[in-house]
This record gives sequence, structure tokens and C-alpha cells, in this order.
Amino acid sequence: MTLKQTGLIDSPLSSAVYQLLLASVPAGTSVTPLRLANLTNLELQLQSLQQQLQRQQQQRRVEQQIRQSLDLRQVCATAVTSVGELYGAERVCLLQYDERDRAWRQIVQYCQTEPIARQDLLSITLKDFPELQPLLDGMPIQTDPDQASCLDWQRRWQQQYPGQWLLLPLRLSARPPEHIPLPWGMLALANCADPDVWSEQALTNASSVAYELSIAIQQALLYQKLQLANQELRLLALSDGLTQLANRRRFDEHLHSEWQRLTREKKPLSLILCDLDHFKLYNDHYGHPAGDRCLTQVAQTLMQVPQRPADLVARYGGEEFAIVLPNTHTQGAWQVAQKIHDSIRGLYIPHPLSPLTGSDYVTVTMGIATAVPSRSETPQSLLQAADLALYHAKQHGRDRTYVHAHFNL
Ligand code: GH3
Ligand code: MG
Ligand code: MG
Repeated sequence: MTLKQTGLIDSPLSSAVYQLLLASVPAGTSVTPLRLANLTNLELQLQSLQQQLQRQQQQRRVEQQIRQSLDLRQVCATAVTSVGELYGAERVCLLQYDERDRAWRQIVQYCQTEPIARQDLLSITLKDFPELQPLLDGMPIQTDPDQASCLDWQRRWQQQYPGQWLLLPLRLSARPPEHIPLPWGMLALANCADPDVWSEQALTNASSVAYELSIAIQQALLYQKLQLANQELRLLALSDGLTQLANRRRFDEHLHSEWQRLTREKKPLSLILCDLDHFKLYNDHYGHPAGDRCLTQVAQTLMQVPQRPADLVARYGGEEFAIVLPNTHTQGAWQVAQKIHDSIRGLYIPHPLSPLTGSDYVTVTMGIATAVPSRSETPQSLLQAADLALYHAKQHGRDRTYVHAHFNL
């Protein structure tokens, strides 16, 4: 019998074997039944190797997909979907371990037949299934309905969670070396179509995916922390240490961006500069720490007056505050200023040295300027106008508000 007569060379796989054999078997050489058996064996081995290679390539792809994102929700959603598809699982759940309740709770799941169903939440407590303890030590666990007749806990498991399950622990790497970390959670696969999934090799592969997922989760958690720290840092850099109001830098940024926005929209922008009256005398009388407390109290009051999300109250410097009011005409800014007068007077902060007639309490003076921003002018012009109005209000007796004659709309 020749190689051609075996019929093996018709499949693409066989042609690969054929090519290999051609190198070692001279053309025309007859193939004995023993040689044929060897050939078939070789072919099967090659087939199995190719399948293994294919599976490993698929697995690498899944691992890459899982590690592509730094967003925890995205990592988890990608993981359950791609693992479900890889193993042809009916269901894949990602559960997070709650150390206090000693329970795993589902955070996301993949269902072969329907989109991710959040209402179907899985919760497994260690109290109900103490047999899952090895998971805490990082051991995978399989629950098999075939064994249900032998093991009591498997039977109970089947009643609650029917099907064949593979439970893989997800452990984040230990920080202090002496501390053995509890698992972050587990990846639970149910009823995989691939019968091979329960083999020793498949278990090792699945554990490898779980390991990659653990790393992706750890990275995403670190990234979350980093983002939070950055946010805090940004808030710190943009807020005033004493009053917690926006600081001068934030004020400059906000005024600039609102100026640009309202230039495009051709809408008015009002600015109020607010200055505490005779505050040096307040400090002289009560001392600097009391002066600080007074500034904080005034700041908290100011913060409650403007209403719109784009309004901004900032500490402009020393005992001066600035209030940015986008989309606001002078009339609206005037009303805000009157509310500020009322609120500050309503605090009744004693100021015995105040030279103002009729007031022994802390008062403020304000200057208002309004403009429809344009490219030919800068926010600086609005600022100077409000400052000038404030100056005139001071000159005319304090505890009052003046509007700039030209920056008035
Ligand atoms: P005017 O009515 O003209 O505004 O008088 P004034 O005393 O309020 O203004 P002046 O500019 O002469 O003084 C401002 C005072 O504000 C001087 C300074 O001690 C006080 N001040 C500025 N920043 C702070 C602060 O952070 N804490 C305290 N306690 N006082 C401050
Ligand atoms: Mg001042
Ligand atoms: Mg002052």
C-alpha cells in the first residue's frame, strides 16, 4: 500500500504529515499495516498537539483581553465573558469575598443564553459550605453532580447551585510578607460544554487565567487608588487651606474658562469682589487666630449664597473673596450681593473697634462688574472694573455695594 492509498493525505492535517513523511520515506515505498498504524498514531499525536496549541493561543488571547483595561468594572466584565466563551460555559460568575461575613458575593456574571443579569445574584457563605475553606488557601474546587451520591456537601451544593462547577480563587499578591492574603474573590464556572475542561491540564490552564485575572484586578485597584489620590491632590492644590473655598488659582482658571465659554455663547458674566471692613482692627482686637475663625465663618456663609452649579465662591486673597456668576446680569448679581450683606450681618460677629457708625458687627463691602465676554477684552478688565467699584464703595462709607458704571448690563 502506498501513502496515497491510505487515504490519509486528503485532510489538511494529513498533508502536513505527508510532507513530513515525504522527507523520510522514499517515493514508491510500500506502507505495511504496522507502518500505517504508526502513521495514524503520529497523526493523532499531531492533531492533539495542534489542539493544545490552538487552546493555548485562545487562552493567551483571553489573558491579553483581561489585562487590557485598568478599569475594574471593565476588567471583571471582560473576564466573565471571555472565560465563558473560552470554555463554552453556561454561566461564569465573578464573586468578591467579604471577610467580615465570610461570604462570596457576585459582582458580575456571564450567561450563555442571556445578557448579564444583575438580579440573579449568587451569594455563597462559608458558614453554609465550610468545605469551601480550601479556596481561602488558594485551592481550586470542582463540584460534580456525579459525586453527589457520595458527598453530603456536594448534594447540598447541587440543591442550591445545580450543575458542574469549577471554583477558582482569585488572590492578590501579599503585601507584608508575613501576611497570607485572603482571596479577593473567586471565578465560578458552571457547566462547561468542553468536556476537557475538567482534565488536569485544563484545570492548570483555568488556574492560569484566574492568576492573570488576579493581576488585572490588583492593577485596577491600584489605579483606582492612584486616581483617588490624584483627585485629592488636585483638590488640595485648588482649595484654600484656611477656608476650604476655591483658591486664587482655581478662581483664575474658572474665570478664564467661563470667559471663553460665554464669549462663544455671547451671554453675560458678573463678578463680585467682597472685602471685610476694617478687618485689620478686628485682628488687632481679637488676635490673629480669632481673625482666622471669623474668615472661616464668613467663607462658609458666602458659600451658601450663590445657587447655580457654575457659580464659584473663592478666596481671592487675605480678607477678600470673589464670586463668579456666569449667565448673570447686573440685576442678578446685585440680588446675590444683598443676600450676602444680609447673611453676614445676620452672623452678628462682634467687631467692637469697627469705626462704622451704627454697626458693632462684622460687615462687608462689595464691588460688582458685568460684561458679555469678547475676544477683544480679557477677564482682567472685568476684575479691574469690580475692584474699582469696590474701591468707590469703600470710599463712600463701606458696608455697601457699588456697581461699575460701564460694566453694568
Ligand atoms: P478695609 O475696610 O479698608 O478693607 O480695611 P481692612 O483692615 O479690612 O483692610 P487692610 O487691607 O488694611 O487689612 C486687611 C487685613 O486683613 C490685614 C490682615 O491682618 C487681615 N488678614 C488678611 N489675611 C488674613 C488671614 O488669613 N487671617 C487673618 N486673621 N487676618 C488676615
Ligand atoms: Mg482688602
Ligand atoms: Mg478689608
